[in-house]
Formats: sequence, C-alpha cells, structure tokens
Amino acid sequence: MEKIKLGISTCLLGENVRYDGGHKLDRFLTDTLGQYVEYVPVCPEVECGLPVPRESMHLEGDPDSPRLVTIRTKQDMTDRMVQWAQKRIVELEKGDLCGFIFKSDSPSSGMERVKVYDEKGMPVKKGVGMFARIFMEHFPLLPVEDEERLHDPKLRDNFIERIFALKRWREALERKESRGNVVDFHTKHKLLILSHSPKHYQTMGKLVAKAKDLPLKELYQKYQTLLMESLYLKTSPKKNANVLQHMMGFFKEQLSFDEKQELLDVIDFYRKGYIPLIVPVTLINHYVRKYDQLYLKQQVYLNPHPLELQLRNHV
Ligand code: SF4
Repeated sequence: MEKIKLGISTCLLGENVRYDGGHKLDRFLTDTLGQYVEYVPVCPEVECGLPVPRESMHLEGDPDSPRLVTIRTKQDMTDRMVQWAQKRIVELEKGDLCGFIFKSDSPSSGMERVKVYDEKGMPVKKGVGMFARIFMEHFPLLPVEDEERLHDPKLRDNFIERIFALKRWREALERKESRGNVVDFHTKHKLLILSHSPKHYQTMGKLVAKAKDLPLKELYQKYQTLLMESLYLKTSPKKNANVLQHMMGFFKEQLSFDEKQELLDVIDFYRKGYIPLIVPVTLINHYVRKYDQLYLKQQVYLNPHPLELQLRNHV
C-alpha cells in the first residue's frame, strides 16, 4: 500500500508556526504513525498571511458562527481566514486526503470544544476552529481527529482503522472501476463492518447483493457513505466478542474440545476486560494459518492496520 495522505495542523509536526514562535510536536504522529502516512501540513494562521510570532486570537460571539478576533487589539480576522480557507479547500480536494489531524483547542484548527467568548469575556467550550469547521463541512465523510483525542487508545484505534479502510477502498477503485471490485472489497471487510455496526452490515450486504441493478457511480457513492458511517461507530467488547465467536464457527470441524474451550475462554476474558483484543485475534490468526482457512485469511478484521502500531494491545 502507498503511504496514506493525511492533512495535519503544521505545529504538530514540530514546525515553529505558533503565535508565540513555538510548536506542538507530537512524537506519536511524527515518529510512529508518520512511518505509514504522508502528511500534508496546513497552518491556517500563517498561510492566510499572518506573521510568526503574532498576536494571539480567540473566538467570540455566537458559538455556532463566531468571529475570529485578536485578543489585545481586537482585530477581526474572520473574513481573511474564511477567504483563505475556501481557496485552500479547493487545493486540498485534489490532494486525495484520507483524513485530517487537527490541533486541539485552537480557534483556527480545533475540531471541537474550542472556547468561544461572550461579550462579558466568559468562555463556553462549544466552538469549532474557523478552518476546521470549513474543512469538516466540505469533507463530511473524511475521518478527522485531534492530537488530544488520539491519546485515547479506543479513539486512536478507530481513527487509524478508518484511514486505512478509506485508503484500501480508493486503491480498489483505482485498480478497475467495476461492480466486482465493490463485491470483493465488501467480502474482505464484512467482519470489520460487523464489529462496528451489525445494522450497517445488513444494509451494506443488501446493497452489494443488488449491485448490478444500480448505476456504478451511485453504487460507489452509496457504498462509500455507508462504509465511512459504519466505521465511525465505535466497536465494543460485546460486538468484537460476537465477531470472534462467529469466526470460531469456521473451525468447528478442526478444533478439539480443549482447543474450542480455550478459545471460548480467551474470548470471554477479552469481553470481560481482563485481556486486550490482540490476544483472541492472535489465537484465531494462528488457527487461520494452521488450517489454511481461506475465507478468514482474507478478512481485514484480523489485520486492519500494521501490528507495529500496537493498537489492539490497548483496546
Ligand atoms: S494550531 Fe493551527 S493555526 Fe495554530 S499554529 Fe497550529 S496549525 Fe497554525
């Protein structure tokens, strides 16, 4: 797989672009995730023409449509930022981005819970950074996160799973536009989708079953929307245990009574939170290889992202 293209707030890469001349380097993003992605840095404040260092800004007014204002001299930067953002979005459209990692709490780049001040100077944490809002409205299905939320192992696992899935989907379409490609992609992702949303699993199964009745473009659009919606929904120990037990059914002829009992125990320990997901997944992968289980071998669920990221060691 080619590297995944991800937009990122420039200061997270260690560039000195912040209002105070500093940066907010995040080592997980640069050193670990950075091995698999190609970052497209975006610093709204510098790219819209402001200097480094500069006067700091905040959001003011209505949390649903605030103004971007410098704190000391009260210069209103809203129009300047919006005009620049609209042009930058057009450039980013051509960039084949599979997601964006925003800097938390920033009045320009924060994706949620950014402080917005009322006329008395009281903040409410209900705002969205000015560039982040325009970006998310323009690309509603693209996975987005901020660096703070990515410290949470579950959110990290979910985001990285989504960017890898979107990249695989785009590569599948690039190879050849055909209904067969959608069917093939869906077959490989069935259990991954089931682990997020049994409801989407059903709906997407029906969509793929009638693939030949739909114009190709409509099929792609509907499938991609459902794919991104389904993977956005969080997995849970209960949903994962359901998928793991489903996979166990593929070995009913081969496993001994003891092996079945061991696998059931491991799945149950995972469901109760005593061990991480990587343990039952590793055991099932072992049986998949040992018994050359062809259907499971191709299931992305068993290998959704590089093992080196250790994402399933913590969920
Ligand atoms: S938070 Fe956004 S605007 Fe501020 S320095 Fe970082 S990238 Fe630039």
